[in-house]
Amino acid sequence: MKSASTGTSTLIQPYGGRLVDLVVPAGDREKEKNRASRLPSIQISDRSVCDLELLATGAFSPLDRFMGREDHRRVLDEMRLSSGHLFPIPVTLPVEEGTPISLDQEVALRNSKNELLAVLAVEEIYEWDRNEASQRVFGTQDLRHPLVAEMHRWGRWNVSGRLRVLALPVHHDFRELRLKPGEARERLTGHANVVAFQTRNPLHRVHEELTKRAAERVDGTLLLHPVVGMTKPGDVDHFTRVRTYKALAERYYDPGRIVLALLPLAMRMAGPREALWHALIRRNYGANHLIVGRDHASPGVDSSGRPFYGPYDAQEMVARHAAELGVAMIPFGELVYLPEEDRYEEVGKLPADARTASISGTQVREDYLEAGRKLPEWFTRPEVAEILSETYPPRHRQGVCVWFTGLSGAGKSTTAEVLTVLLLEHGRQVTVLDGDVVRTHLSKGLGFSKEDRDVNIRRIGFVAAEIARHGGVVLAAAVSPYRATRNDVRNMVGSDRFVEVFVDTPIEVCEGRDFKGLYAKARRGELKGFTGIDDPYEPPRHPEITLETTRSTPEENARKILAHLIEKGFARKLGVGFGPG
Ligand code: ADP
Ligand code: ADP
Repeated sequence: MKSASTGTSTLIQPYGGRLVDLVVPAGDREKEKNRASRLPSIQISDRSVCDLELLATGAFSPLDRFMGREDHRRVLDEMRLSSGHLFPIPVTLPVEEGTPISLDQEVALRNSKNELLAVLAVEEIYEWDRNEASQRVFGTQDLRHPLVAEMHRWGRWNVSGRLRVLALPVHHDFRELRLKPGEARERLTGHANVVAFQTRNPLHRVHEELTKRAAERVDGTLLLHPVVGMTKPGDVDHFTRVRTYKALAERYYDPGRIVLALLPLAMRMAGPREALWHALIRRNYGANHLIVGRDHASPGVDSSGRPFYGPYDAQEMVARHAAELGVAMIPFGELVYLPEEDRYEEVGKLPADARTASISGTQVREDYLEAGRKLPEWFTRPEVAEILSETYPPRHRQGVCVWFTGLSGAGKSTTAEVLTVLLLEHGRQVTVLDGDVVRTHLSKGLGFSKEDRDVNIRRIGFVAAEIARHGGVVLAAAVSPYRATRNDVRNMVGSDRFVEVFVDTPIEVCEGRDFKGLYAKARRGELKGFTGIDDPYEPPRHPEITLETTRSTPEENARKILAHLIEKGFARKLGVGFGPG
């Protein structure tokens, strides 16, 4: 594709001819901020903050505001703004019924931390139909689509009007990579062909190969442009991803032929329409080519297990509008590795019986990272493998919480003490949060009312969740009599790293042991609200482990828990020669 302009400036103009800039000049900002502080204000969602940033910097040019009724209508129907320019995705500012705004008045827009971002002069307030929008934009109303589900939480009214941006969202991380469209264009000045690569995943060898081939194909420069705003729930976090991109850009690409920049876009996972949007945005950053592979911006499968979009629908969509948008589509099929020839090839170009190798995203996590196995070099660069293994350590270095529950004197602390020693023997670090001990510091002053007991358990749960999140083993031993509260704690820690252990000792046995003399006191009425006597205990319905303490010793029980942890991968079996004997 030939681009229209000439000279040494960036060859391709922004879409619509001019880069939108909504940021109030520095000289006027203080005055405007003062004025804005007296306006009524609304807090906008994280998604709207991302949209606002891209509107403000011109990434959505020629769009210069959250869409009004006419723009919105035409975008749904024809993927165009009322000006006729292509624009496939609605960018709106939804508000709840009863939000204090009125026509022809200004309103301050603030983020969730209440920081002032912009002033919007309200020119339109209109109702929108979420079913219609879902159907038009996403081609579905299936709630498995993450955006369709999210849209059910958006307000029913959209607000639009002129925007004056007083402060762009602040990003403290990777500052040198956060190029605005104007800055990216400057960096790309003099490069006739710029090939953008959109990604929300760590990059492996096939991606490296694909981006290099695409750039070579048009003798172009690569704009490696990962999304760091909002991506698909469950994606690898952007801190980890960006470290992998940096490592690759620094070591494996020709430095004169690559620009790495971060895009604070809130993705919609809209497949073909989203791909077209990606092309438009990249044109504004100075690219005139976009790589579109299989399943671009795919939300996965719907509730009947079928993909929402065909694997190459996005390619078709971008190709169809390429000339008008000024962004050529570089198609790619799925690349695979040919071990015998030590090279990569598109699946479609191979004979049916070719021997290939590939590792899926799920396999990367489960079969390699969690298992502590190194990812092979044909699959990913060693620097990338190292970064991923830091974020996803093997199971035996991940955190886990063992939550003991049962009556006073059931044997929770005693069992936890033995388990501590066994875990130390197996190379794990352990913190014990014992109910009695916690009540002397963290929960000092709390009593045994339902409220106080819940506060106590939630505090232990909070600390346990933090320890587990940082890779530690935490053993909590508190009566924790209420089922609902225990379930809250399970959710705080995360169910996949929570092991509930019911120490099922009958009350007669606990009372018979009564080594603290508390049951006797409770019977005499000197102690009120004692669990099991005159206060409830709700046994767990589905604990991971149930222990009985009349026939099994504390050590036998502790070993039973250890075996469970080893089976789940949270501890490793001791090697031969290290065990007893
Ligand atoms: P909890 O922490 O559940 O209140 P403790 O572990 O502090 O209970 O007390 C349990 C008491 O029962 C200890 O004195 C312990 O020696 C005794 N005990 C007897 N048999 C067992 C057993 N199999 N498991 C745990 N504790 C036992
Ligand atoms: P929780 O806060 O879940 O009820 P804790 O383990 O924090 O349980 O505190 C219970 C411990 O405090 C018991 O092991 C017992 O030794 C002591 N205790 C004192 N009074 C009571 C009571 N009224 N009910 C239960 N345990 C009590």
